[in-house]
Amino acid sequence: MSNNVVIIVADDVPVGTVVAVAKRADSQVRAVVAGSRELAESVAGAGVASVCWVPQPEGVPTEALAGVVAQKVQQLAPAVTLAPNAAASRVLAGAVAAALDAAVASSVVAVNFEDGKTVVERLVAEQRAVETLETTAPVVALVSDGAEDVEESAPAPIEEVAAAVLAPMTVAGIHEGESGGADLANAQRVVGVGRGLTSKDQLALAEALAGALDAEIACSLSLCDDYRWFEHARVVGTSTQRIAPRLYVSVGISGQPQHMTGVRGAKTIVAINNDPEAPIFRNCAYGIVGDLNKVVPALTAALS
Ligand SMILES: Cc1cc2nc3c(=O)[nH]c(=O)nc-3n(C[C@H](O)[C@H](O)[C@H](O)COP(=O)(O)OP(=O)(O)OC[C@H]3O[C@@H](n4cnc5c(N)ncnc54)[C@H](O)[C@@H]3O)c2cc1C
Repeated sequence: MSNNVVIIVADDVPVGTVVAVAKRADSQVRAVVAGSRELAESVAGAGVASVCWVPQPEGVPTEALAGVVAQKVQQLAPAVTLAPNAAASRVLAGAVAAALDAAVASSVVAVNFEDGKTVVERLVAEQRAVETLETTAPVVALVSDGAEDVEESAPAPIEEVAAAVLAPMTVAGIHEGESGGADLANAQRVVGVGRGLTSKDQLALAEALAGALDAEIACSLSLCDDYRWFEHARVVGTSTQRIAPRLYVSVGISGQPQHMTGVRGAKTIVAINNDPEAPIFRNCAYGIVGDLNKVVPALTAALS
C-alpha cells in the first residue's frame, strides 16, 4: 500500500472539497465514478489524474454498482479512499471499506501521511473541534461538506468499466413525496427560518415577511426534525435540497455548513441574527444583528 488517495463519487454533488482534501495528500488523485457519463466527465474536469467510470444502466440504482466500485478501488490499493457525504457515495464507501477491511471516518477535513501512518483530521463536537486519528490500516472516509471550488483543469482520461456484474437490483417505481406545497427549487425569493424562533407563534412574523417579499418559506433541519413545524420538503441543506433563489433571507439561523450547503447557490443572502459572532454573518451579503422579533416586523413594514 503506497501513500495514494482515491476518491469515489456516485452523486451529482459539488466535488471541489473532496478533490481538494485528496490533493493536499496526493497530487495524483484517481477517481472511481459510478453513474452517468456526464458525472464521470464532470469529475474528470475537477483536477483528478484519472477516472475509472462504472456506467449506471437505465433502471438500476447506483447502489447496485457498489460491488464493482469496491473491486476497482481494491485494484488501485489506495491508502485513503475519500467520498462526499452524499447518499449513494456513502453506500459505495461502505462497500469499499468492507472490501479493503479499512478504518472508517466521517466529517473529515484533512488527510496526510506521517512516519508510515495515515493521519486523518475530522470535525467533532458539533464542528467546534478537530480530532486527529492515526492508523496504519487503509482508510475510507466521508469528507465534511465544504465550499471549495473545483480547480479548472484539463479533463483527465476516463477509463470505462465494460460489462460489469451488478447486484440484481432494479428501480421498481418512484413515488413523489409530499412537498407540503413547497416549490423551493423554482422560488426566486426564499425566507429561511431557524431555531432562533422559539415559539410557533413567531412563524407569523416570518410568514408576513415572506408575503411582503412574495417568497417561499424554508427552514433549517431543526425546525423539521426537532420541532416538527415543517415537512422535510421545506428543509434546505446537505440532507435535503440545494436551492438557488435570487434572494435568501435567513431568520434566526446560525449558518452551520450543513445548512449553508443548501443555500450557497443563492445570489444574495441576507441574515438576521442576534449573535454578531454567528457563522452566517461570514456567508452573507447583508447582515442585520438584532432580535428577529423587532427586525422582521420592521423589514416587513418597510417592504409593504
Ligand atoms: C449529518 C448532518 C446533516 C445535517 N443536515 C442539515 C440540513 O440539511 N439542513 C440543516 O439546516 N441542518 C442540517 N444539519 C443540522 C445543522 O448542523 C445545524 O444543527 C442546524 O442547521 C442548525 O439549525 P439552526 O441554525 O436553525 O439552529 P441553531 O444553530 O441553534 O441557530 C439558531 C440561531 O438563532 C439565533 N437566534 C436566537 N434567538 C434569536 C433572536 N431572538 N433573533 C435573532 N436570532 C436569534 C442564534 O444566535 C443562533 O445563531 C445536519 C447535521 C448533521 C450532523
